[in-house]
Amino acid sequence: MLLIDGSFGEGGGQILRTSLGLSLVTGTPFRIEKIRAGRKSPGILRQHLTAINAATKIGQSEVSGASLNSQQLTFIPKKVLTGDYSFAVGTAGSATLVLQTILPALLIADGATNLVLEGGTHNPSAPPFDFLEKTFLKQINRMGAKVTVELVRPGFYPAGGGQIKVHIEPTKKLKGFELTSRGEILTRRARALIASLPTEIADRELSFIGQRMSWDKSCLHKEIITNSRGPGNVVFIELECENLTEIFSAYGERGVRAEAVADEAVKEARHYLAANVPVGEYLADQLLIPFALAGEGAFTTFGLSLHTTTNIDVIKRFLEVNINTTQLGKLSTLIEVK
Ligand code: AMP
Repeated sequence: MLLIDGSFGEGGGQILRTSLGLSLVTGTPFRIEKIRAGRKSPGILRQHLTAINAATKIGQSEVSGASLNSQQLTFIPKKVLTGDYSFAVGTAGSATLVLQTILPALLIADGATNLVLEGGTHNPSAPPFDFLEKTFLKQINRMGAKVTVELVRPGFYPAGGGQIKVHIEPTKKLKGFELTSRGEILTRRARALIASLPTEIADRELSFIGQRMSWDKSCLHKEIITNSRGPGNVVFIELECENLTEIFSAYGERGVRAEAVADEAVKEARHYLAANVPVGEYLADQLLIPFALAGEGAFTTFGLSLHTTTNIDVIKRFLEVNINTTQLGKLSTLIEVK
């Protein structure tokens, strides 16, 4: 049985999710200790418990230690069973991170799967639905699998209650590719989503982004959400390029001015544009598992985040794969999978 130290490197939920995902793919049982020891509220939270339950069900697995706040877990998978599933986080915890856990196994499974996932769909420190659809899954769909997602209802912190439908057509073998330039920027777009809050917040965010990015009004879009369970506000800066779409997001918070929220997204977008690499910080750690499963491929990104280096270490525990990183410049690193 593989022993994973949940406190090493980044010390967060991703170590648990990557371990669950690759355990399902490879059939390797594992035990993880010191789960999320690097976080303020260590151990298993609702969102992680939902991911564990999802992996348990899909892998017909034996599991022990799967309870709230637990810091250890033993997971013994059997065969991946595709079909129709529903998993609900039950809080505003991220539904997209539940998908991150089980998707690798379902991408190369024997049959198609339909998922209904409930929880947060727009959470800080997790992939927002829009990033999942336009940034991450666009690349996954280049690898031979076909994944489509539908946002039935957005879920914001603290009310949650969002719903995503996912359809996964797997492939026998994922194909890697090279993503070393972004190509021309085809579309520049800022979107401000606003639910049950004064819409003037979205107007101020968009006007700030328009000024700072020197974008005209045709690039700025306000979207008023009427079907979420509670209030919420998120702003996206989307750069649709020839070879990928990158998305930078920031969340409205009580006591934080709309301009300050928008500025967070602007700073991220500017950093990305200055680095002139295709793959942003978040996509980098998320592409590693599919590329590792393909056993081939390369991409360039910023300097390596702790999420990325930690994910590489966990992947190497489960898969025999070479992942080489070469620093090309101050803001540019090549990641090659062989
Ligand atoms: P952890 O912090 O270990 O729970 O992992 C968080 C995951 O969410 C990582 O895969 C990150 O790449 C992803 N993530 C965090 N923030 C964003 C964001 N703004 N956009 C897209 N993905 C994100």
